[in-house]
Amino acid sequence: MLESEMSLKDGLSAPRWTLSSARALYELPFNDLLFQAQTAHRANFDPNRVQLSKLLNIKTGGCPEDCGYCSQSAHHASGLKASKLMEPEAVMAEARKAMEAGATRYCMGAAWRSPKPRDEAAIVAMVEGVKALGLETCMTLGMLSPGQARRFAEAGLDYYNHNLDTSERFYPEVVTTRSFDDRLETLAHVREAGIKVCSGGILGLGETADDRIDMLVTLANLPEPPESVPINMLIPMPGSRMAEASSVDPIAFVRIVALARLLMPSSHVRLTAGRTAMSDEMQALCFFAGANSIFIGDTLLTAANPGADRDTRLLDRLGLTAETLA
Ligand code: SF4
Repeated sequence: MLESEMSLKDGLSAPRWTLSSARALYELPFNDLLFQAQTAHRANFDPNRVQLSKLLNIKTGGCPEDCGYCSQSAHHASGLKASKLMEPEAVMAEARKAMEAGATRYCMGAAWRSPKPRDEAAIVAMVEGVKALGLETCMTLGMLSPGQARRFAEAGLDYYNHNLDTSERFYPEVVTTRSFDDRLETLAHVREAGIKVCSGGILGLGETADDRIDMLVTLANLPEPPESVPINMLIPMPGSRMAEASSVDPIAFVRIVALARLLMPSSHVRLTAGRTAMSDEMQALCFFAGANSIFIGDTLLTAANPGADRDTRLLDRLGLTAETLA
């Protein structure tokens, strides 16, 4: 019996994954992998419910980090105009619209290396305001100190997004202005502050299958796995270092979604960037493989996202309904 099968059967004990045990699952015949993933999904979630989140860019562009895929990096000639941090009232107006469109979680992202002390009061006001509307709150602001994580937790922040992006081995090919360990450190500060963790990665950066698997192994082996695991398919952004990256094999993408479901059976696995380039059939396979969260709205930070009409049609055709908050 595979180590991974044992951990699935005993359910509650935290699995300690290795690259080889995870790879053994990833390489199963496709039908077997999907069957296992769907079984794990049904054991942990209503299989026909999808959590809907909405993402707002609260501060665009001019970021000092050099993430190779990102149009908001100041290192890239993407033509994107940097903006100032939005006013909390404007953020709340957008959050109200998202709630009316069915979102239960409101995610706010700023193109920063880390928040500056002068910005913290506005961030706190946004968290408090959006939470008062009855939405779950999520922020992605770059690296956080322990004190910042505590401050935002006290304001009521539910989730913090901080993606690993890829494996530790491949990380320096993607970003050079910070290290993989910096990433893990912020995740630890977030967890210690009592904020739920949202962390995943991007497929299509030039990484190998083992890099993708290893990224999931790192996430699954955190002292507590992330509650939310976004899986992105690279949208090559003009002007970025990865503007000419090759596309990802859809079957390999679905395999990674299934593996995320198996390695982190009780986490929400979110189909994130790249859905505009996915067929309805590919998204349906991802939902079958265990994806149970999407971003709604026609933009994702600076990239396109399927609009409400296409998502509503797709969810209707698949008989999927939106999760509601308890
Ligand atoms: S991904 Fe985030 S941290 Fe990296 S350059 Fe873009 S905005 Fe900055």
